Amino acid sequence: MNQIKSISINLLIPFFISLIFGIMIVYSEKIPSVLFNLAPYIFYTLVALTLWVSWHFNRNRFIFIILPLLFIHLGFEYLSAQKASLLFKYISILYPLHILVFLLFKERGLFSFWGILKIIFFIFEISLVLYLIYNPLELINNYIKIKLFAINLYPLNDLSLAISIFTFFVITALVLFGKYLLYSASFLILLLNFELGLYFLKTPFATQIAFLSITVIIFTLLIRESYRLAFYDELTNLPGRRALVEDMAKLGRKYTLAMCDIDHFKKFNDTYGHDTGDEVLKMVASKLAEVSGGGKAYRYGGEEFTILFPSKDLEQSFMFVDVLRQNISTAAFTVRGKKTSKKIYVNISAGVVQNSSKDKNPFAVMKRADNALYKAKKAGRNIVIQA
Ligand code: GH3
Ligand code: MG
Ligand code: MG
Repeated sequence: MNQIKSISINLLIPFFISLIFGIMIVYSEKIPSVLFNLAPYIFYTLVALTLWVSWHFNRNRFIFIILPLLFIHLGFEYLSAQKASLLFKYISILYPLHILVFLLFKERGLFSFWGILKIIFFIFEISLVLYLIYNPLELINNYIKIKLFAINLYPLNDLSLAISIFTFFVITALVLFGKYLLYSASFLILLLNFELGLYFLKTPFATQIAFLSITVIIFTLLIRESYRLAFYDELTNLPGRRALVEDMAKLGRKYTLAMCDIDHFKKFNDTYGHDTGDEVLKMVASKLAEVSGGGKAYRYGGEEFTILFPSKDLEQSFMFVDVLRQNISTAAFTVRGKKTSKKIYVNISAGVVQNSSKDKNPFAVMKRADNALYKAKKAGRNIVIQA
């Protein structure tokens, strides 16, 4: 259920951005033309902004998606009609593949091994396109003319269509499997924008607006990504302490709070190593994320987690937390050694409390939950205590 929700959200955001731009094109006669005349300048500004922020946040995936768009935009604007039409042919084939490649490439520093590989690949693409524009090869142009489909979607050629459909299916699979969801969902919509922008080449402003729409999608992605960096824990993908503090400030009159802690985790780390410890943390976090009753789990720090239940009373929350405790204690974790692998189990202990009029603020509630957790540890662990 959670998965469907996050897939929908990740698809809907870029979809609505595209929809707004699509509506603009459909009702272009009703919109003052000055807005459309401004579109290229807004595009260039947004491209510059995106490049700058991506560079700053070391998110070079975006740089490699936006830069080609800028070059294509400039090419359409300033090349002769004949050369622009060649550019159109080549990029309609290359860009969908380019999106896929850069979606799958690891996000690393621009001057790391992967970064340099990306730069080389990108320079190769540009050189190839430029070379072919100025020295069109008969052979390649014959390939591009190849007929694959019964329908004709001129000016899109069949080869580019086939590649786009292929890319579309691969990215759709990534979305459905939740792979790089934040990116893949946006890239899927971005691809559709690109194809529509090219298909409606003859419709006034359509291509430019499609490119603008893509840039807005990428820029939004960049903002969402920065939000995730600030509020989400890298290892477990749970919201982190900063998100917890924000959410605690928004609580209503009645709420409950649970502090959870993995039992004997230090010993676990000492026995199996820190990396295996990290894997266990992820596993525990993923179980806690499935909390029912409208609860939300956070990584408080280390091997400690907090769960907030807005508008639930103590009895109910206790039940939900105890279900989590049981789920974790019965979930086998496989530790792979050099020759053998072995199943191990971890437990959590938790303290649950409800806020009362005596608590000055949510932090006082948290303190009481911590005390309850301490009691749970004293009572022998793998237990939830309510106070
Ligand atoms: P208790 O049952 O009383 O909670 O015992 P404990 O060993 O779990 O508690 P303690 O606070 O002594 O140790 C917590 C350990 O959690 C210490 C640290 O090595 C480990 N830890 C904290 N954060 C991480 C992390 O991000 N990754 C890994 N692998 N270990 C972590
Ligand atoms: Mg601890
Ligand atoms: Mg512990």
